Amino acid sequence: MFTQDDLRFDRQHIWHPYTSMRDPLPCYPVVAAHGCTLQLADGRELVDGMSSWWAAIHGYNHPRLNQALQQQMAQMSHVMFGGITHPPAVELSRQLIAMTPEALECVFLADSGSIAVEVSMKMALQYWLGRGETRQKFLTLQRGYHGDTFAAMSVCDPENSMHSLWRGYLPEHLFARAPQCGFDDDWDDNDIADFARLIEQHHRSIAAVILEPIVQGAGGMRFYHPRYLQQVRTLCDRYGLLLIADEIATGFGRSGKLFACEHAGITPDILCLGKALTGGTLTLSATLTTRDVADTISRSAAGCFMHGPTFMGNPLACAVAVESLKLINEGHWPAQVAAIEQQLRAELLPLRDHPMVADARVLGAIGVIETHQPVNMAALQQFFVERGVWIRPFGKLIYLMPPYLISAAQLTQLTAALSAALAVDGHFQP
Ligand SMILES: *Cc1c(COP(=O)(O)O)cnc(C)c1O
Repeated sequence: MFTQDDLRFDRQHIWHPYTSMRDPLPCYPVVAAHGCTLQLADGRELVDGMSSWWAAIHGYNHPRLNQALQQQMAQMSHVMFGGITHPPAVELSRQLIAMTPEALECVFLADSGSIAVEVSMKMALQYWLGRGETRQKFLTLQRGYHGDTFAAMSVCDPENSMHSLWRGYLPEHLFARAPQCGFDDDWDDNDIADFARLIEQHHRSIAAVILEPIVQGAGGMRFYHPRYLQQVRTLCDRYGLLLIADEIATGFGRSGKLFACEHAGITPDILCLGKALTGGTLTLSATLTTRDVADTISRSAAGCFMHGPTFMGNPLACAVAVESLKLINEGHWPAQVAAIEQQLRAELLPLRDHPMVADARVLGAIGVIETHQPVNMAALQQFFVERGVWIRPFGKLIYLMPPYLISAAQLTQLTAALSAALAVDGHFQP
């Protein structure tokens, strides 16, 4: 059981994401989750609109994911990956190589999305060392998000991630103006001008371009034009630069394609995967690259790739990821995501005309309402919980990205709560 005393303890001693220890916002105790609902300690059920931050695409407590975990646990939960390999890692890597573009054939399994980004950036640095050059700059986009570790943070939006706070400590990289042409807008060639200018001026010192393809997630929930990504690929090829695609949020169907790069028909040189990789059950990431990049890294003075976390290739995480990929490969997700997209368009896009709303946009199983004023998070969260839904807004963004198996009625419950929330002045900061 979960008591008031437990809540008090949590408040006094446990950090939650991006919260103050002195004055934390309220937390809601969840004791179970199944399908598309979270169960609170007091028995209330909330329809989940977040997929636990992009991860729980198959919903919670999925019998097949649970079974995969139990079977693997009976064999071994973990064993070191140095000098040892095991069936779940081999099976998972086989499946990832089969599902991703053909050129990507070497896999690094690490423990979280941020580490996948660290690994991808380190791969790019070592790639250039292998070619006898020192190149240390990364070119990326404003409004991006790539994780909270230091190298990842250095390529996150400078304002959102408060680079000013870390001045003198974070390496300074190159930031192109965020894409302005939306996914459904007419393409305007000027959109790529700033990126093109930066790459032209600095290509001799740039190790790689790193970006989130098509969907900029935590940095603003923005959907940009596929032509932008195509032009980035063209410019990277022109100057011989590596392209790192961070699909940690978008991977495995969320944007309506298995991988968001497919909207533009491009292949990155390095691909980062995480979040939904295990169906949201355990933390795991994969960084894939080409044979050429892998071989070139091995020619650097180190002679090998210099990374190897303790829980690399964790067998439990790999086994459940294998089962999650099997569920994806059974092929129900495209119809599910398309149905969610259609319903989100019908139920959210009309809110564009609401006086509190600056923009409404939908892509795949992602629906976003951008408001004029920042939300009052505590008030809004409480309103949503009282309405039986779990929606976690931030800044000026109230967004939905439910598990793919959500029913039409459950999705309407989410959109109706969102729309009702806009009517209450107290839900927004003055
Ligand atoms: C969440 C996220 C990360 C970081 O992943 P963690 O598992 O939280 O470290 C990196 N890139 C993108 C695009 C993300 O959405």
